[in-house]
Amino acid sequence: MYEDKLDKTLELTTSILSMRDLNTLLKKIATATIDDFGFEQCDLFLLNDERDAFDLKVTKGYSDALTGKVEGLAKSMSTFKNDLAEAERLGRFTYLYKADPSTNDRNYYGLLHPERAKMPRQGPDDWHELDVLYVTFEDSEGNIIGFMEPDAPKSAKLPNKNLVTNLEIFASLASIAVANAEMLDALETTVKHYKAMLDSTASLQEPGDLKSTLKTIGENLNVFVPCDELSIYIVDWAKNLLIPVYATGPYADDVMADVGGLTGLAGAVAKSGKVEIVQDSIVDDRVEDIPGIEDLEVPQTMMAIPLKGKVGVEGVLELYRDKSRQFTVMEVTLAEPFAAHAAIAIENAKMREELRNNFESVQRAYDEMLDLDKMKDNLVDTISHEMRTPLTTVLGYLEMASVGMYGDVPPKMKAKFDTMLESVKRINQLVSAMLELSRLEKKTLKLDFEPVNMAMVTREVLKELDHDIAAKKHRVTVLFGNDLPVVEADRLRIHDVIENLISNAVKYTDPGGQITIGADILGGKMHLWVKDNGIGIPPEEQDKIFDRFFLAEAGLTREDGRLGVGLHISREIVKRHGGDMWFESAKGVGSTFHMAIPISKSV
Ligand code: ADP
Repeated sequence: MYEDKLDKTLELTTSILSMRDLNTLLKKIATATIDDFGFEQCDLFLLNDERDAFDLKVTKGYSDALTGKVEGLAKSMSTFKNDLAEAERLGRFTYLYKADPSTNDRNYYGLLHPERAKMPRQGPDDWHELDVLYVTFEDSEGNIIGFMEPDAPKSAKLPNKNLVTNLEIFASLASIAVANAEMLDALETTVKHYKAMLDSTASLQEPGDLKSTLKTIGENLNVFVPCDELSIYIVDWAKNLLIPVYATGPYADDVMADVGGLTGLAGAVAKSGKVEIVQDSIVDDRVEDIPGIEDLEVPQTMMAIPLKGKVGVEGVLELYRDKSRQFTVMEVTLAEPFAAHAAIAIENAKMREELRNNFESVQRAYDEMLDLDKMKDNLVDTISHEMRTPLTTVLGYLEMASVGMYGDVPPKMKAKFDTMLESVKRINQLVSAMLELSRLEKKTLKLDFEPVNMAMVTREVLKELDHDIAAKKHRVTVLFGNDLPVVEADRLRIHDVIENLISNAVKYTDPGGQITIGADILGGKMHLWVKDNGIGIPPEEQDKIFDRFFLAEAGLTREDGRLGVGLHISREIVKRHGGDMWFESAKGVGSTFHMAIPISKSV
């Protein structure tokens, strides 16, 4: 017993001064009061700034039944101050009474003030606020941060003055430890809050679905603002609906199943865009139809916050908890950043949905386009095939007729026959080009490899184009070495490619031009080039020259019988040989087209 030994009191104090954990410390103080100062019971209260009241933190020495009853008990600042003033005025614990075992669950001697002793005790639940010894805890500025109520001296005697003094010394030193531990506790809470805020913010960047993002936000909000139930609704302004997207608590399933109109507290908040706090869900008119809430025995306090997006209210966040723990304005301030997060999450989800829809419609349009393209290709393919045979027939008869096989042809008619022949040949060329294109695209084109002498093929082509070259008075120079190797290639197709390059040079060069054709080995490949000093290709058209059906703006038009597929087909054929085609060109100066194919057949 420390009753009158100061050094023992100081020793005890030293042992608690370094304690860091608030709860352990408070328990230790209460235990010491019981064990070392000789009381049977002790309650310990700490100030809750926000509520301006003292919360019961530790209760020791009471029966289990009584301990359960006092849980969550708080003493408001004003009650406490009244009690304290009364105690000072009347003089303290001047009376000891013996608890009546018939109304109390055990025997003990309680401290009681004579004034109170005169009043009849109504039973064990009749709290006699004056019948205790208050020992206060104070901070360095003398503000009361808590107090304890030791009661029922084990000695069955009134505490003597020394004991009270020692107890007060103990309490005043313990205050330092309590203040420190509280500070640490507050710091820990701040860190916890900071982490919860970070988690909530981070959840916005997670690609997960809306529900899991809102779950993370809700759980972190709960660290700041504890609640029993939390629901988040999306507002559908077009249909005037509140659609639940996330709910926790015992009635979560009911909440989630209940899509309702813009009514009740959430509806009002959605419309007004203002936060609302309800103190008692049972009596408040604003509250209606909250699934499950009418089943709750204890009325709820509620907080409803609008979730504001860039364009307006996107949803509502609702929190409920037991009415005894009213929501405070401070808690609204704490909850608001989380509401902002939820609003962003909803906006993001909507945006994602929109993007997905857009993507799907673009995809659909693209698929339709592909289908149409395929239909068109098939049509072109069929028509080309079907035209080929009759065209060949027409061409054959025309040729025979024009050379007089069906009778004499007068000169005038001969001229007409020649024009007709030219036209039919042209159509034939176009049909062949279309067929070639179609085969290339369907990948059904088969190359027929054989040894090819490029110089010979070039000579053949020049011979075929002789008439056109002469008509435009071009000069043609061929720069082929004698030692060029024979290449493995599809002779007819390489012929067409070279013809395409040279005839383009002829076509796109003004009369009297210079065309130079050369060949050499480049990077192990057979390299052939055709250079002209013609009209050239303007820079803006250069990257389209190999496109299907591309016709440059300048110069000739489609009426000249151009199809704009020659270069496209040529390059495809060269590529099928494992080679490539490219060009340099300057407008008004001229162009050089190159092709290079492997010397031996590439696999
Ligand atoms: P076509 O000659 O039937 O129009 P091509 O595919 O062979 O089709 O050529 C595509 C386009 O490239 C031509 O319309 C022309 O504008 C341009 N072009 C091709 N060769 C030359 C060249 N040697 N000089 C200038 N322009 C050319």
